[in-house]
Order: sequence, then structure tokens, then C-alpha cells
Amino acid sequence: MSILLKGGIVVSAKGRRQLDVRIDGEKIVEMGTHLKTENSTVEDVTECFLLPGFIDAHTHLELNNGKGSMGTADNFYTGSKAAVAKGTTAVIDMATPSKGSSLKDCLAAWDQLAKGNSSCDYTYHMSIIEWNPAIKAEVKAMIDAGITSFKMYMAYDNLRTTDAEIFEAMNEIHKYQGMLGIHCENGDMVNEMIAQFVAEGKLSPHYHPLTRPDSVEAEAVERYLMIADLANLPVNIVHLSTKRSLEAVKRARARNQKVFVETCPQYLVLDEHLYDGPDFEGAKYVCSPPLRSIGDQQALWDGVIDGQVNTISTDHCSFNFEGQKTIGKEDFSKIPNGMPGVETRPELIYTYGVTTGKISLERMVGLISEDIAKQFALYPQKGIIQAGSDADIVIWDPKTTGVISATTQLQNVDYTPYDGMQTKGSAKAVYLRGQKVAENGQVIAEKQGKFIFRNISKNN
Ligand SMILES: [Zn+2]
Repeated sequence: MSILLKGGIVVSAKGRRQLDVRIDGEKIVEMGTHLKTENSTVEDVTECFLLPGFIDAHTHLELNNGKGSMGTADNFYTGSKAAVAKGTTAVIDMATPSKGSSLKDCLAAWDQLAKGNSSCDYTYHMSIIEWNPAIKAEVKAMIDAGITSFKMYMAYDNLRTTDAEIFEAMNEIHKYQGMLGIHCENGDMVNEMIAQFVAEGKLSPHYHPLTRPDSVEAEAVERYLMIADLANLPVNIVHLSTKRSLEAVKRARARNQKVFVETCPQYLVLDEHLYDGPDFEGAKYVCSPPLRSIGDQQALWDGVIDGQVNTISTDHCSFNFEGQKTIGKEDFSKIPNGMPGVETRPELIYTYGVTTGKISLERMVGLISEDIAKQFALYPQKGIIQAGSDADIVIWDPKTTGVISATTQLQNVDYTPYDGMQTKGSAKAVYLRGQKVAENGQVIAEKQGKFIFRNISKNN
């Protein structure tokens, strides 16, 4: 028996139209006006928008650095449940190997974390944290295994590679038309400034953003884009957070480089004054890059509005305040970096973007679903409501209101950076490949997620 979603308004990045949508099995099979109701379970979705399932292209749902207490608060089970409850039907998680391990072993380890545990569909960006002939040979193996995107780091001593290694990796990825995203911060400068503040006894969270000023990011963005220009590789910039970085992107685009820019909700709705909160509260917001100035926030919104920013994902990486963030009570440089967010992105972007009139609902669909799907070879299987696509559909009710709260969230972490913020609009129901998996913010069918095999020929 098929399912007929009747009376809703289907929205894509290009426009909206009132259409009935028929789902059969895992797929959307028919769309039109006044579709026949016989042999279908009819769901009345009048006064709701039908949005393609949201995709979060930047999560660290489950990370454990082997130090026990420093594993993330969430894991694949809790993080993916929090995601799908609010409309995120797919994540691209950062698969991160440890030094000396092969990419293949890392892929197997991530499959182990996700398989049978995930409540949303998933795939990974494979992180390249060192470069040698063995890793080089694995780039093609990853693409053959359906992993078409990679991640590298210019900061964090345990993860970063040299410019020469980045250039070599780009050349290899270019051969197979893969996608590369890089964490852009000048790691040497960050280390210098941390050492300086620590030596001066400046140890509170207030100093965290001062060790990673906008120049540290913008310099790395500029360098990354120049190297990509040499390698002639279209590239992604993850979690871009400053006006100066966006200016570097504009320069690259002016010389005809293809650059994709991701930002995150925290850089759009929070700012650096939060580091000065009482009782070590600032530690909750310690992430890298750090929260920025109001001026940067405005520049990012301008980029979201005019298209210079392509996508919004979360960089979800949750650590509890008690027992994890507090490890850095005497020294901000020991505070684990990261914030939760996979649950709150849709409501934040709808509330602060759409209902304020900054962006249209169509633009929101592009930013958190369709354009992500296109960039990462998931389209048109994901990211669009049309016949033949996976029936990943969010029934969005624009009339609801809510308040984000640590006590009611599904994320398995003891705080949320958005605590107390009022929201408008929410996912009334969420379909994952044809199955209703969430209703009114609660998951009703868990662990239904599957690995998404990506095929490079779909990259555009
Ligand atoms: Zn990240």
C-alpha cells in the first residue's frame, strides 16, 4: 500500500507548488494535483510545507580519542536520533583515522559505529591526516567504496599535514573528481598564541578566541585556495566563520576558481561575547574556529543571502560541560573543542533566516539540503522531492513555536549553546526512505538509517 501526502506545498531550492506526493516503498513515485486516493494511506498535510530531508554535511557524531573521558558525549545512536527527530535524514560524518591507520581500517571502524545504530542515513568524509604512498593509493579505493569526499586539516598538531602534502593529495583527488574540504586555520600561529597566553597566565575561556583571530583563518583560507588553484581542484571550505575569509573566497571566485563555502548556525546566531560568561560558562562555546564578532556574523548572513555561502552544516561535536569542558577550568587550551548542534539547525535557520525575512524558504532548502546533495554526489537520490528520489520528506509546520532547552533536547549532552532561544516552525513528521520515523519531535522508528553509496559520476 502506498502513502499519499495530500494538500501540502512542495518546496525546492527553485520554487514551491501545491502538490500531492505518492510514496511507494522507499521512493517517491508520483506527484501531481488531485492524485487518486484509492489503494493509498492518505496523510493530510494541509497547511504544511513538504521539504526534502535535511542533510548535515559536517558532523562528528562519535569520536573517541582513546582517553576515555574525552570521547564525545553523543554517539551514532544518540546523535542520529537527535538529527532525524527534527528533520535531518542524512549526515556526512567525519571519519577520522588515528596516525598509522589505513583509510580502509578507518572506514571499517566508522561502519562499525554507524551500522545498525544510526536513525538517519549516513556516509562519511574520509579524513587524510598524514600523507604517504600507502594513503595515496587508498584515495581511489575510497572512491570505489562510495566515499567521494575527503577532509584535511591545517590546524591541530595530531591531524594537520603540510602544504606540500595538501597539494599532493589535491592532485590525487583531482584524478577521480573527488571533493576536498579543509579545516582552515594557521596551526603554527594558533600554537604560538596559545603558548604566549599560557605563559602570561591568561587562562580563562576569554582567551580562546584571541588565539584564533580572523587573520589565522583568513590566511589559511587564502593559502588553501592558492594551492587549490595550482592543483586546479574545486574545493570546499568547512565552517568558514569570518568576513576576511569570505573576502579571500571572493578573490578566488574572481579568478574563476570553483569554491564551495560552508558555514554553521553558531557563526550566524551566536557571537564572541559568550566567552566572557560567569562561572566558566564560556567553555561551552569553545570550538574552532571560535565564535566571532557581530560584524563577521553580519558578513556571513550577507553571504548566505547573496549566495557567497553555499551550505549550512553544524560541525556537531558534543562534549559535556561537567566533566569534559571543565577539564580546562585552569587552562582554556585544555577545553575539548566542539559544540552540539545536529538537532537544532533546521529550527534555527528557519527562525533566524526565514521568519526574519533574510532568506526565503526555498533558499533554506538549498542551504541545508539540495545544494549539499548536489555538492557531495547525493543528488537526486537525496535533496529533492521528485519522482524517483528517496522518500526523505520533512512535513514542516510553520505555525509551531518552541524554546530550545538542554532539558528537553534529544542530544545526549548536558547543555545546548542555544539554551532558551525561541524558535518558530518545526518538523511535524519525518519520512526516511518512505517510512515515518519521527513525529512531533520524537523518533517513532529508530535505527532505520543506511549507508549511502555515492557515485562520483553524479558529482556536479
Ligand atoms: Zn569539524
